[in-house]
Amino acid sequence: MPTKKVKEKTEELSKRLTLKNELVWDKLGVKERKEVFSFAENYKEFLDRAKTEREAVNEIINFARKNDFRDINDSLEGNKFFKVNRNKGIALAVLGEKPLTEGVRIVCSHLDSPRLDLKQNPLYEKTDLAFLKTHYYGGIKKYHWVSRSLALHGKIVKKDGTELDLKIGENPDDPVFTITDLLPHLAKKVQFEKKFSEAIIGENLNLLSGSIPFPDQEAKERMKLQILEFLNNKYGLIEEDFVSAEIEIVPAEKARDIGWDRSLIGAYGQDDRVCTYASLEAIVNMNSPKTTVISLFVDKEEIGSDGNTGAKSRFLEVFIDELIDAGGMKKKVGDVRKILWNAKAISADVNGALDPDYESVHEKRNAARLGFGLCITKFTGSGGKYSSSDASAEYLGWIRNMFNKNKVIWQTGELGKVDEGGGGTIAKYLASYGMEIVDCGTSLLGMHSPFEVSSKADVYMTYRGYETFFMED
Ligand code: MN
Ligand code: MN
Repeated sequence: MPTKKVKEKTEELSKRLTLKNELVWDKLGVKERKEVFSFAENYKEFLDRAKTEREAVNEIINFARKNDFRDINDSLEGNKFFKVNRNKGIALAVLGEKPLTEGVRIVCSHLDSPRLDLKQNPLYEKTDLAFLKTHYYGGIKKYHWVSRSLALHGKIVKKDGTELDLKIGENPDDPVFTITDLLPHLAKKVQFEKKFSEAIIGENLNLLSGSIPFPDQEAKERMKLQILEFLNNKYGLIEEDFVSAEIEIVPAEKARDIGWDRSLIGAYGQDDRVCTYASLEAIVNMNSPKTTVISLFVDKEEIGSDGNTGAKSRFLEVFIDELIDAGGMKKKVGDVRKILWNAKAISADVNGALDPDYESVHEKRNAARLGFGLCITKFTGSGGKYSSSDASAEYLGWIRNMFNKNKVIWQTGELGKVDEGGGGTIAKYLASYGMEIVDCGTSLLGMHSPFEVSSKADVYMTYRGYETFFMED
């Protein structure tokens, strides 16, 4: 039996030396617990209003204007600005006391989520039913998208050049759309005996859209014609208008509390609107920061960050260039590069939490867990850290000490076991400017599903983390 003194020493050493992850709930006082729940209420409303990147941009513009941010292309007055990138990306900034060339702080999240898009020639009929053809966007499990109510959100540019913003399926009075699944009685050969990934194929994700025929029984494609007539009467559309349309199909449900204790949130699009919302709430608290702070919101992360609204575009450079003007600095060649080189950034994106039913894909010592706070992910990628921006020890040291000092509860995460799979974020694209960057975000269960699950405590700690990152010198 160890003596009392030995026991005390063991306890003291263990307390002082070993890394202990903490459940956020254990650390919250009464007041903070209240804050966690009220923060979640506002977050859920944001999720319901911003189901697509375009809607998210609109929400962010409204939020920015309400908090005295000005469109940098309209006015250079004050120190709070925003710039919109083609209605699918946006950046907010608050100019700090220090010169921009000493570096800026950037929190970058993405506004797009996995979904289905309408094809450019979508409308057809088959077996006397009308359908819309879709093309999936991002990493989905196709079986998630059948047999559920779906809403249409998007923009159509009509033949005469006018624009139509479409949103059907969100209002309780609206109709919804659906992709039917085969009855189990007949699914044995065409589904059950196939490989899981082949049981439902992309080309079969067709949206059921109507069943009343055009009255003239001699007419060709009566279901299709009936719908075209309806769309023309209601919106002034013709079939060709689908060509210049971006219609996204998203789950029609609203964000909900999960569990008796209401501690969790279930909703579509939390990847990555959880980090987006936290970043937004963090930057509005900044009025006169020491260092200039930027909340950057990009599109196209789920399909590789390409395109003029993705993280690989030069939007950030353009915005920084305009911030130099706004700050009244005399511009020198190379300033933008210098500012980005000296920047510190957080790639604000989610990570997959330890799934209790599939523990085997995680390595538990290094897996993120729901409820244990903001998740720091040093590297993403797959295999031998391929295609990853591996954050430096120096930068991680700075980040964790800053979080500790400000009582931000954090954990570390890795996307699954070493050889299991993997994924990427925008970190590597921003890292190419030379800035310091690390992934820091909320961990989710059911990531990339139509009903992703987050912990309200983690959502709040994500916000606290970003706020600290903006504030700390
Ligand atoms: Mn993401
Ligand atoms: Mn994702």
